[in-house]
Amino acid sequence: EPLDIAATVEALTRTVHDFPRRGVTFADLSPLFTDAHGLRLTVEALARAGMRDGLRDVDLVAGIDSRGFLLGAGVAMHLNTGMLPVRKAGKLPPPVLSRSYSLEYGEAALEIPASGLSVAGRRVLVIDDVLATGGTLEAAIGLLSAAGASVVAAAVVLEIADLGGRTKVKDIPLTALTVR
Ligand code: AMP
Repeated sequence: EPLDIAATVEALTRTVHDFPRRGVTFADLSPLFTDAHGLRLTVEALARAGMRDGLRDVDLVAGIDSRGFLLGAGVAMHLNTGMLPVRKAGKLPPPVLSRSYSLEYGEAALEIPASGLSVAGRRVLVIDDVLATGGTLEAAIGLLSAAGASVVAAAVVLEIADLGGRTKVKDIPLTALTVR
């Protein structure tokens, strides 16, 4: 990606040490989201990456709860696709497809509706804001694959390289607009 995108993301990221717990360096993208130019650049760059990596045939965007929703919706409108919100557990009425994954402490799960929408056979681009340990993205990809979709690409705004999340996302092209 052009350097100005990485520079823009870095300039508009609020970095907070020891949040939400000691030892974690939290990347808050709120300044980027609230900047008209930053938001547009970011959404366009994610869409471009998804088109390139998905060999131009992305026909559904999946955004991960909750910051992936706002980015994913923008990307979907840019690509002229629909957008599937991948929810945290407990938000959707049954029936749901669920995939649990481990966090630093304990477990979490992601869910999508098990009826009423057609995910099977779709070529999906998965969007989230930050890639840290990769557990969340891995679970989303597993969930969509279990629903019969082909996850053709994933794209995030910011990757924290030290946490090794990229190694959990094998076989799927993964773009980060900036890497720390
Ligand atoms: P992980 O499963 O560890 O890759 O965590 C990714 C998810 O948690 C993403 O949805 C992020 O929004 C959030 N997250 C994890 N670590 C951070 C961080 N250091 N800064 C901002 N968001 C984070």
